[in-house]
Amino acid sequence: MPDPRIVSAAPLEDEAQFEAGLRPRRLEDFTGQTKLKENLAIAIAAARKRGEALDHVLLYGPPGLGKTTLAAIIAEEMEVEFQQTSGPILQKKLDLTGILTNIRAKQVFFIDEIHRLLPDVEEILYAAIEDFRVDILIGAGPGARTHSMSIPKFTAIGATTRQGLVSGPLRGRFGLVLRLNHYDVAELKQIVKRSARLLSVEIDEEGAEEISRRSRGTPRIANRLLRRVRDYAQVRADGRINRPLAETALDLLEVDRFGLDEIDQKIMMTVLKNYAGGPVGVNTIGASIGEEPDTIEEVYEPYLIQLGFLHRTPRGRMATDSAFDYFKVPRRLRTGEQTALF
Ligand code: ADP
Repeated sequence: MPDPRIVSAAPLEDEAQFEAGLRPRRLEDFTGQTKLKENLAIAIAAARKRGEALDHVLLYGPPGLGKTTLAAIIAEEMEVEFQQTSGPILQKKLDLTGILTNIRAKQVFFIDEIHRLLPDVEEILYAAIEDFRVDILIGAGPGARTHSMSIPKFTAIGATTRQGLVSGPLRGRFGLVLRLNHYDVAELKQIVKRSARLLSVEIDEEGAEEISRRSRGTPRIANRLLRRVRDYAQVRADGRINRPLAETALDLLEVDRFGLDEIDQKIMMTVLKNYAGGPVGVNTIGASIGEEPDTIEEVYEPYLIQLGFLHRTPRGRMATDSAFDYFKVPRRLRTGEQTALF
């Protein structure tokens, strides 16, 4: 049996390099997210016109949708430096103070996984992004005193998959709060074709569509699948990708027809089988499959809703008819009351 996890089994560094090579550098090369791009383009143009730093930006949305890419694009469009860190890396107050005291005017300071900042580190960030000020401790022992140092105006860009975990006060300090949504098949197709061009892989329309449909609405997954299908095409065929070849390669990798991963499938089977299609609360689903309710709500559910497999109702989550069909769960499991809702 092929290992379904193989899609993400490439060594991390190799994967990071591969991703970096495919990253669009300008806003015009960034596919999809039309409204977000429009808002961003206006804010960038205005800040440039005034010769000021761009307002702080909070990007949120599921992993792999382009938050890091966008942060780098913003720096490129503003023609300023780009510096990157992440919430879990900044373990001590001093780590962040060190970066902030060296910050350059108007530069972009990108903090990935900002919801994972420790509270005392987060406090330092508050002061820096609100008042452009850093408190530094001078001396040691009883004679030590704090000196408040002003720093140049810069742009903080925070990224999070879990907007619910970013504290209200921190969120309030970002002038632009932008949400990234899953991509539709047509958008992913453009991304796959662009990546294929960059990798010098021959792919036809239908081959690109097949990869896109199975990419879970996520550019990162689309690029990974393209890479795996390319391998297959080079080893088992003449290197060109069309639909039959993509289908065979992706079936071999056990990639679901809609790109659903193991957790998506667990969520759907819980709602369909254990709760006869719902309604069932997100906390209950979380407890059944051992995932945090927030993660289900912010990372998994949006795609299942976009696919039309799940509904949010005031009484909980409900599976749709097409979910019963796709997962081949007999409808007779549903109670009369729930059937009436459809
Ligand atoms: P995130 O930070 O949200 O997890 P990334 O910015 O790292 O996601 O994006 C993952 C990969 O997907 C990048 O290598 C990039 O090439 C690709 N990507 C993401 N969004 C787009 C897009 N809109 N257009 C083209 N490629 C994209």
